[in-house]
Amino acid sequence: MKVKNQKAFEGLKNETPQFWGNLSYDKEFDMNKLELDYKDVLDASERLNRFAPFFEKVFDDTKESKGIIESKIFSLDKAKVEIEKYEKIKIPGKISLKGDHSLPISGSIKARGGIYEVLCLAEKIALDSGMLRLDDNYEKLSEEKFKNIFSKYSVAVASTGNLGLSIGIISAVLGFKVTVHMSSDAKEWKKDMLRSKGVTVKEYDSDFSYAISMGRKEAEVDPNCHFVDDENSKELFLGYSVSALRLKKQFEDSGIKVDKNNPLFVYLPCGVGGGPGGVAFGLKLLFGENVHPIFVEPAQSASMFLGILTGMHSEVSVQDIGLNNRTIADGLAVGRSSRYVSKMIEPLVAGFVTFKDHELYNLLKILYDTENISLEPSALAGFKGISTLLSSEEGNNMLERIEVKDLMKNATHLIWATGGKMVPKEVMKEDYLKASYK
Ligand SMILES: *Cc1c(COP(=O)(O)O)cnc(C)c1O
Repeated sequence: MKVKNQKAFEGLKNETPQFWGNLSYDKEFDMNKLELDYKDVLDASERLNRFAPFFEKVFDDTKESKGIIESKIFSLDKAKVEIEKYEKIKIPGKISLKGDHSLPISGSIKARGGIYEVLCLAEKIALDSGMLRLDDNYEKLSEEKFKNIFSKYSVAVASTGNLGLSIGIISAVLGFKVTVHMSSDAKEWKKDMLRSKGVTVKEYDSDFSYAISMGRKEAEVDPNCHFVDDENSKELFLGYSVSALRLKKQFEDSGIKVDKNNPLFVYLPCGVGGGPGGVAFGLKLLFGENVHPIFVEPAQSASMFLGILTGMHSEVSVQDIGLNNRTIADGLAVGRSSRYVSKMIEPLVAGFVTFKDHELYNLLKILYDTENISLEPSALAGFKGISTLLSSEEGNNMLERIEVKDLMKNATHLIWATGGKMVPKEVMKEDYLKASYK
């Protein structure tokens, strides 16, 4: 296998937690070279706005935000002190948390992309039927006559848990028939919750790549079935990217500066790549050379890292180098990255980080004890991004290479908290008790 950095490759094979500065990263990358652009993000944002009255009507937890599915940012001053102790490092700059763990409707980052793709489908069907116009109040989509139309169509998706939860919930509410193909990583409570909402759940005793191939095959034979393809979907990607528009406004409102002297580092837990990829793409469009996205993956499931390091993208899986793709971070348990996303984001990601699973429980406990914020294990991965970047030689070399080393005291470290709100209390408590850090 040809690799861009032998040491990083050995680290992947040996499951050694590490930072790798992506050699293809170009902080001033010309975004016009990409297939999608700013207009596409605005278009997605406007579609979400059209659906806002529908959400407000149907989902109580979107009433406060008037139907906009968005999360807050939190300043983590207390957690920072404890993280510095835990990691035995000093963190220059400020740490903030993007609270997608509390997103309305499905409590994870998948409430962005996953829901968005189903809206694209529903809008198209409704417009084609002649019963909806673009300038209508979309609240009417909750009426029985629309449910009747949507019930003639089905939606299918494969998931390690959260994507299924998002797609399942929104599809069922609109009236679609919906099937979720779950990999063996999926937590029991996620499957139970879906079944209780009338979703068909198919379980496989295998990983995400297998579940998605089975789902795709089954959907292919049904012309009225829309398959949400997490390995290739533009809609998912754009749904995630809208977060950047809103984050920019949140930063302005809370006085967080991002400019030449105030760099922004964003730490994104990565599975197949759509979520972190879409967010990174949006952020690069809005903050340009002043934002530096870093993707974080479990050592056993570092599929995006491997794909970029080898230049093989989705043509290589972690199993090919002897890893087993088993991790407690179910949201990140993906052995092969998205073909669509991997190529597009290659120049936009400053670095890749891997970590060991047991750290997630310790971080879960720290965040709960200091800030009273509860996340699911996958969603804590971002914290390993910040510490591994700052404490590794590779990380420091990268900071020098992109000429921000002297600006770190002004940096904002934004940790993307990707899931948590839906986790049952008992499960959260069990995870908390698994921490070895006291
Ligand atoms: C899905 C998920 C991610 C990563 O998103 P991908 O699109 O799979 O890369 C991160 N965290 C959580 C909690 C998730 O559910």
